[in-house]
Amino acid sequence: MQPHTNDAPLDGNAAGGLLSELFAFDVTTASVICEGCETQGEVAQARVYGGTMGALLRCAHCDTVMIRLVHTPHGFWLDMRGARSFFVKPPAE
Ligand SMILES: [Zn+2]
Repeated sequence: MQPHTNDAPLDGNAAGGLLSELFAFDVTTASVICEGCETQGEVAQARVYGGTMGALLRCAHCDTVMIRLVHTPHGFWLDMRGARSFFVKPPAE
């Protein structure tokens, strides 16, 4: 029996176009759902703590760390385990 090659998983490069479409926007206008309290609000409403190396974005309602962003000499680390999901509206046409 021949394997169904269309069912084989691809590596992350296959999602490159979709991801670049997703992240090509002003992230502060995206809505985020906090993992701690399930409140939905714009990223711009989060409380940010940070310095030159990175930032912690905490929920304005329950103080859960939703996003950790660290800029190292080698690149960026992004940890979003405190954010249940994001909602991004398409750009106005
Ligand atoms: Zn919260």
